[in-house]
Amino acid sequence: MNKCPICRSSATCTMMKQEHKYTIVCERCGDYYISEIASNYQDFKSLNKRQIANASGWIRENQEFEIISTKIDFLKTLPTPSIPEKAEKLLLYVSKEFPYPGYVFTFLDDGGKSKPLYFAISWSYDASDCRYIYYDYLFNEKKFLSYYDAPTEGYKISPSGWAYIDELKRINPKSQQAFVAMWFDQKLDNAYSEAIRPGIVDAGYKPLRIDKHEHINKIDDEIIAQIRRSKFIVSDFTGQRGGVYFEAGYALGLGLPVIWLCEEIELEKIHFDNRQYNFLPWEHDNLPELREKLQFRIEATIGRGDYTENKSS
Ligand SMILES: [Zn+2]
Repeated sequence: MNKCPICRSSATCTMMKQEHKYTIVCERCGDYYISEIASNYQDFKSLNKRQIANASGWIRENQEFEIISTKIDFLKTLPTPSIPEKAEKLLLYVSKEFPYPGYVFTFLDDGGKSKPLYFAISWSYDASDCRYIYYDYLFNEKKFLSYYDAPTEGYKISPSGWAYIDELKRINPKSQQAFVAMWFDQKLDNAYSEAIRPGIVDAGYKPLRIDKHEHINKIDDEIIAQIRRSKFIVSDFTGQRGGVYFEAGYALGLGLPVIWLCEEIELEKIHFDNRQYNFLPWEHDNLPELREKLQFRIEATIGRGDYTENKSS
């Protein structure tokens, strides 16, 4: 096997005998694994161009994925992104790869052909499909790329392209609202009123806590709507409420930053998957410290906001 079983581009395929799987390094899909059984499936030989484009694009975004036979259907039925979505993926990729203003890059290899890598990045079928994304859409129509050198097809990201990339990275760039997800228990009232709320205000944001649903872990439309309207969310896991986990997960899924809090003595109870996040531990008898740390954490990760309120309100 010297071709990628998904996209048929040239690839190095190394059999790992003990694990019964191949390591694939494909010029288009990147690095992934495929089990010996899955690699023999006829399904792969009957993929159409759209399925290949989607599977290859997905694998590029999820490197070191292991394809086993039960995952084949998933790869075959991936939804096709819209043209603007494909263009966003490609623009974000080049901005990370070449993060210098004025840097000139090309989508072609030395022989003047489009690099298969960029088919995968933009979830494109082939070279002409890919060229449509960077030339017709990003360069000609949106002007997010500025043409630099015609013979070598060198491009630069244009100033409006950089501005757009910046916008893409921010969700709700104009929102001043910080959604607070926490256990609505009297034990935490002081932590909210003396530290969490003022800490958010000190950083220049407007805290929003919906506490009329305290008796149940119900997530209703209003909570969803308010999270969507927020610039970030502050989640306090003290009390281990299901609602707090849900709201933090929902915010992460939207791409909103999450500030993670938990009372120090409860830190070890945090469900495993959440431990990878950088929690701000706090103590009941030192709320001024929480207030200050929270303000700094918000300013460091989100930036200072410009919301102010009267002390009396
Ligand atoms: Zn491939």
